[in-house]
Amino acid sequence: MKAVVLHGIEDLRVEPREERPLGPGEVRVRVESGGICGSDLHYFHDHRIGDFPVRELFVLGHEGAGTVAEVGPGVTLVAVGDRVAINPSHPCGQCAYCRSDREQLCADMLFLGSSRRFPHAQGLFAETFATHERQCVKVPAGTPSRVAALAEPLSVVLHALSHAGPLLGRRVLVTGAGPIGAIVLAAARLAGATVEITDVTPEPLRVAEALGADRVHDVAATPGSVADPAFPRGRFDAAFECSGHPAALATCLDQLAPGGTLVQVGTYADPKVSLPMDRLMAKEITLKSSFRFARDFPVAVDLLASGRIDLGPVLSHEFAAADAMEAFRTASDRRRSMKVHLRF
Ligand SMILES: [Zn+2]
Ligand SMILES: [Zn+2]
Repeated sequence: MKAVVLHGIEDLRVEPREERPLGPGEVRVRVESGGICGSDLHYFHDHRIGDFPVRELFVLGHEGAGTVAEVGPGVTLVAVGDRVAINPSHPCGQCAYCRSDREQLCADMLFLGSSRRFPHAQGLFAETFATHERQCVKVPAGTPSRVAALAEPLSVVLHALSHAGPLLGRRVLVTGAGPIGAIVLAAARLAGATVEITDVTPEPLRVAEALGADRVHDVAATPGSVADPAFPRGRFDAAFECSGHPAALATCLDQLAPGGTLVQVGTYADPKVSLPMDRLMAKEITLKSSFRFARDFPVAVDLLASGRIDLGPVLSHEFAAADAMEAFRTASDRRRSMKVHLRF
């Protein structure tokens, strides 16, 4: 089978890989669609993510869905021919975090397509992928694999939303209208919030409008447009910072109403950020952060499969896996693309 292998900075090659034999409880999934995530782009451009360099040949990808092609001994949860979304998160199940429903903080996490461990956890951008049956969540026949593959970013978003408490009737600000910010917008609206969203380029904001944004703000063209003189201390109950940009963080702190909650979702290129602590303190703002997800994955699959959340506008491009280089370049251009998928 062929896989999309990262050899170095902006050096992706589609090349043959051995299929490994299946162990007890394992299944082989014929991957049909794989979503390119911001973390994949960090690996592509920098050959590292944060403090974790890539140290061996590395198959990218942690957002994927397909069809079960083969089952190993003892498999009971899925059968050949089942369509599934692959949960890339493998918490150990044993540590104190896993035993207290906080798997995302697991002390021994294995997450697909991540260089945090060595040897790296290889990703699923491949024609076939072997994984444990418990990582597979069944998807109904009518749901395309490119939609099912959105279960992973939607899980990240559901987990982020859980940090902000009930959103029914609340005013929410989202900074950054990339795929994650756009999905936060859609999910927060589903949860009953009024949602405004910012970005510094107009194209993603058009997608945000298609997803039902109550207001969009191009903060490059009209700085200060989020502010409302009628609410000098801010007017939002919750803010989700999805851009990883210090100026957006400052906007969140300015525009949150006293007592509001800020959830940090985006990754910062330079993590050393200074905060206006006086504002944080005097408004009693709660600052939280959100990392990956816990038990949200089956819920995300269900929301997508049932059509209760329609992320169609987020899906901007699909490329054959053989054109992975072009797919990654397209995904890197925020003016041209939102979520880009590889088709296997
Ligand atoms: Zn992702
Ligand atoms: Zn654990």
